[in-house]
Amino acid sequence: MMQFIRGITALVGCAVLVITGGNAWMAAAQNLPKDTLQDLGAPPPQPGDEAWTFIEDLKSPLWGNGLGWSQRAVAADEADLSRGVRVNATFPDDEGVLKTAYADLADFCAAAKLSADGPYVIETAKAQTPVFEAYRIEVTADRCRILAADTEGIRRGIFKVEDMMREAGGPFLKLGTVERKPFIKSRISRCFFGPIKRPPRYRDELMDDVDYYPDQYLNRLAHEGINGLWLTITFQDLCKTSVAPEYGEHAERRLAKLRKTVEQCRRYGIRIYIFSIEPKAWEADSPIVKRHPELGRDRIGNTRPFCPWSDVSERYLYESTHFIFSQVPHLGGLINISHGERRTNCQSVILPTSDRRSSCPVCSTKEPWENIYATLTPMAKGMHDANPDAHFIAWFYMPQDDPPADWVYELPKHCPEHITVQFNFESGVTKDVFGRGRRGADYWISTPGPSRRYERLASFAKEAGTSMSAKIQTGCSHEVATVPFVPVPGMLYRKFSAMRELDVSNVMLCWYFGNYPGIMNRAAGELSFEPFPETEAAFMSRLAGPEWGRHAETVARAMTLFTEGYGHYPLVTEFQYWGPMHDGVVWPLLLRPRDVPLAPTWQIAWHTGQHIGTPFAPSGDRIGEALGQVYTLSEAIEECRVMSDLWDQGVALLRSVEADPGLLPERRLDIGVARALGIQFRSGLNILRFYDLRERMVNEPPEKQLVTLKEMRRIVEEEHKSGTELISLCERDSRLGFHSEAEGYKYFPEKIRWRMNQLKNVLEKEIPVLEREITSGKDVFAVYAGRTPAGVSLHSRYCGEIGDRTRELSKSLPEDTAWQVCEKPAPRTAGAKNFRWTVCHDRDAFYVVYDGADKSDRIMLMLEPRRLWTCLRYDMSGSGEKLSQHSHKHDVYAREGANGWQGWMRLPFVSLGMDAAAPAALRINVRHVSSGGERSWIARDPWPYRLRLCNENPEDLGWLFFK
Ligand SMILES: [Zn+2]
Repeated sequence: MMQFIRGITALVGCAVLVITGGNAWMAAAQNLPKDTLQDLGAPPPQPGDEAWTFIEDLKSPLWGNGLGWSQRAVAADEADLSRGVRVNATFPDDEGVLKTAYADLADFCAAAKLSADGPYVIETAKAQTPVFEAYRIEVTADRCRILAADTEGIRRGIFKVEDMMREAGGPFLKLGTVERKPFIKSRISRCFFGPIKRPPRYRDELMDDVDYYPDQYLNRLAHEGINGLWLTITFQDLCKTSVAPEYGEHAERRLAKLRKTVEQCRRYGIRIYIFSIEPKAWEADSPIVKRHPELGRDRIGNTRPFCPWSDVSERYLYESTHFIFSQVPHLGGLINISHGERRTNCQSVILPTSDRRSSCPVCSTKEPWENIYATLTPMAKGMHDANPDAHFIAWFYMPQDDPPADWVYELPKHCPEHITVQFNFESGVTKDVFGRGRRGADYWISTPGPSRRYERLASFAKEAGTSMSAKIQTGCSHEVATVPFVPVPGMLYRKFSAMRELDVSNVMLCWYFGNYPGIMNRAAGELSFEPFPETEAAFMSRLAGPEWGRHAETVARAMTLFTEGYGHYPLVTEFQYWGPMHDGVVWPLLLRPRDVPLAPTWQIAWHTGQHIGTPFAPSGDRIGEALGQVYTLSEAIEECRVMSDLWDQGVALLRSVEADPGLLPERRLDIGVARALGIQFRSGLNILRFYDLRERMVNEPPEKQLVTLKEMRRIVEEEHKSGTELISLCERDSRLGFHSEAEGYKYFPEKIRWRMNQLKNVLEKEIPVLEREITSGKDVFAVYAGRTPAGVSLHSRYCGEIGDRTRELSKSLPEDTAWQVCEKPAPRTAGAKNFRWTVCHDRDAFYVVYDGADKSDRIMLMLEPRRLWTCLRYDMSGSGEKLSQHSHKHDVYAREGANGWQGWMRLPFVSLGMDAAAPAALRINVRHVSSGGERSWIARDPWPYRLRLCNENPEDLGWLFFK
């Protein structure tokens, strides 16, 4: 993912969201939904890893295609380097870490066809600067001096000199002085194609012999201002300690690769950060806890959370980090998720949104921050004792939509010394769309943040003198992660501008994706340094200058349109994880309703244990799964329409640039990325429109249906046509369609062809058949719309007094009430036999009324709020308590009667966006859990767990009509 998010309080009522790692997903993943569109023919198999030719591109020399300059004369305010450059490297560099930078400058001059012993001198020298990495460049007519106090300042200065020439479009440097210093000190990214050490492949980069950090790739990252890269480790794999001597089975092999990686990257001024989720909770029967019970005082399910309050706990943590950092010289630091993903210490069991205390006998007596403080302190001390320069970042991964509890705000106030705290910059971010507030969980570029909650956390950090870091996404995010980057640097301007005001001094630039070299990485690098550009527009020009030369202004205008358009991306987390923007270009379009679920955007195959399973079936037609419960289809369409239109306007500008025959190949590929995104956005919009039209058609008179069908035909034609264009873009750019977290392609030419074939079939066969059926007078959608319902259905009775809590239910209900029973899959043989239920409504709400329940029974209503939407779950106990914090808002009432407990749950029509004057029919199921087990109105065959979605199978629903 994403990370496997534990315990999001989703807006979706019924998702089962307490997940530890990926285990629940994996366990459930074998129960594939029945209709997987097999009749469409299997999509072509995933291309092999040999298709990842972008790795070769990353290894190719940075200046290999030349600089694309055209001849011009020197200007009055410029130094002329055209007669050649001599580099005078006087800056002391005992360890030779600047060799790569000087070599790059030599390559650059060679690409510019400048002789290496010319009269112009570029000289590096030592000087005082205010902070690490700061530099000064003094340009005079015969000499350019690059001055800094440290090697990394010199490195940045050398790259800046190259950029200044690129911006000038020739071997010229503006006379005068340039001074720059970073306010963002750590700029940490990740290898684009590095193994994720998670499903589906479970590859560990420290256990193979692949070089994930080839020189020219690092050279590219260094030019973009990246000075850190993270990779995943676990203590169990890597650490030898006196407390857990059984750990670290292949530690030596892993450490050897880690050392090699560290040294390789150091030559480019890039520090390696290890990323971990530690201390991992113990398995309940761990021999280590048997030896030292104080390591895990509490037991929850099959685990014992790590308890930090003992000498042996402290020793384990200290020795773990001390071991790694003494084994690997120059290791840059540790990014540790201390809370929020997977189970770690006793505090990790408590959701950030909860005020509950840990159930551990010791931790429960402490403040939450104390439990975290006690965990982090020995980890940081172990690290710093081994390497005082290493950097400890404590990441609190708290993406919940709902606001955090008060204790979370205490964390930056009580952070151990020399630890940087990191929170997600956008979690909880909001915006207003069509007059209603929307809120996002995590991973947003289109709504740049910061969230109000991040601002508060940063202000507390500042007051306490705690160093603050922001976790953001740079190149792209879960919004659309099938491109190397989304060129919307204006959004990064907004992020960094806020960071500067909040005194944020570190940034983790990405999760698994969003890190490919390019305009967005460059933007983040630029924006990390003072002087900060005064306006977004000024920044766009500054950014475009070095790469686009004479086209810079046009490209800056295009990127402004992209930024503005992207701001309309729907702010609903489900749209990231299930929506059509990543790979809508390979979604079939289903002309008739089939209730087929959507596939996850961040993966390509089910996985079970260590094995890659069956590829996901193509996404179906349950488009509402991508909209949470917060966007209507019309709202999403209108927003995506603006996004797509503005994007296309930007692409049109770039197409004029593309016509320049002197354009460098890499710039041509940049334009290709923008064009591919234009196609993806248009396709996403078309998918939303297609199913919106289909939903409308269901209830239209025949003559109108035929008109609608014509509009749908035009969409299918447009989609078919854009497939051809996208294939040609993919064929010259292997990055398109690739998703770093999925470790494979979400779309690729063969699969686009497969989809085009399906569309052709819709155009040539399915539409004509449907047209004929409509013309012949058949009510094609009678069953789907509930006009002639198949299966079980129920008519709600009007009952004006039902909500009156002072009346006995039996006196409110009509005599001929149609009581229903929950007896599926099999009638009850014992217990709870008297339970029955029905539905009635008054003017404002409907009520699930029941009778004959036991006090501790659980009654659940599964409700599809509209066709194609994921279900909501409402629940209560027989005695009238709401049972689940995830349950959707509803009112409940119960009293004890002669026939056991009776009562109701009340759902206002307005809460479902229904017209109370003429409520539309809904589809529901009712579940009853008693001591004799669970029974339901309609037998259930639930779908597997799916992140943030309800697993209720739409086939297991019956109609509820309101008279
Ligand atoms: Zn504890």
